[in-house]
Amino acid sequence: MLTFAHALIHWQTQYGRHGLPWQGTNDPYAIWVAEIMLQQTQVMTVIPYYQRFLESFPDVECLAKAPIDAVLALWSGLGYYSRGRNLHKAACLIVERYQGRFPQHAATIQQLPGIGRSTAAAIAAFAYGERCAILDGNVKRVLTRCFGISGYPGEKTTETLLWQKADALLPEAGDKQQMAAYTQALMDLGATVCTHHQPKCLSCPLQPDCVAFKENRVASLPTPRPRKSLPSKETTFLLLINQDKILLEKRSSPGIWGGLWCLPEREIDHNSQVSSPPYLEMDAVPVANLPPLDHAFTHFKLRIHTQLLQVTSRPCKKMDRAIWVTIDDALQCAIPAPVRKILLKTDFQQQLQTD
Ligand code: SF4
Repeated sequence: MLTFAHALIHWQTQYGRHGLPWQGTNDPYAIWVAEIMLQQTQVMTVIPYYQRFLESFPDVECLAKAPIDAVLALWSGLGYYSRGRNLHKAACLIVERYQGRFPQHAATIQQLPGIGRSTAAAIAAFAYGERCAILDGNVKRVLTRCFGISGYPGEKTTETLLWQKADALLPEAGDKQQMAAYTQALMDLGATVCTHHQPKCLSCPLQPDCVAFKENRVASLPTPRPRKSLPSKETTFLLLINQDKILLEKRSSPGIWGGLWCLPEREIDHNSQVSSPPYLEMDAVPVANLPPLDHAFTHFKLRIHTQLLQVTSRPCKKMDRAIWVTIDDALQCAIPAPVRKILLKTDFQQQLQTD
């Protein structure tokens, strides 16, 4: 039976990506530039940028000597400009600290600005055949699925477990070529087969042993980032009733529910008795407190208290951005979902009779 590493290497020879401009070299500088550009950017987008960059700055000394503006000009359009700035900074350090000679071990490479553990390992594996594991986002996806590892990979415990797994799966020491082939194979599988959406399990070399495939957990792995608990806020809506009509106010825009018709709102004050909304210049008496309603926004949760108030004075006729409407008409207006829920849930007849 083929080991994990051998199955991948065998698959890569036939189905992996070959002939990319940064392949077929063991120049650590050229590999480094490619690895940095490929972070957060698709292969096809990177190719022309990579070629222009290498033509202008063919080695680490040229890059170190170049003004940062010239480096960033060539980076322009690739995005994430800190990558370009760090590349330049690291080139200067290599010249200064290592006399222009690229460091030869992942542990030293990782000390350079903008290079994390996985990128350092990829450079060392491709350039020197060093036996060290990579663990970028694609590899995390392959490993969590293949070995059925639950837990958000960005979380420390899961990440540590994945690094241990990635180390344990490395091909045996000895053949430097194997390390480059294995690293490339793992990258290719994550990018082209074990993809985030619609992975091609039926053509995957790991499928016979893949836990996620066997247990039908492919769609649920890797475990997504846990949702942060959202802050809570409270507010009070005033449901003002005058005969068969209620009052709606148009919310100002921009803002929450900007431009929609809403019930008048006031900041919650648990100690105060609401008797009238002064800004509406009319008298109203509280009739009932409706059950609170919870509504979730992307960034916070809102608990809405609603007070039903009967207007007792002649309502002000001239109102900016406010209208008296029947419930039926209100439901036809552009109203936020919670207001719709409140209106649909409230038995106005009963509330007004019993309280
Ligand atoms: S079988 Fe499917 S889920 Fe498992 S490693 Fe291959 S592509 Fe990924």
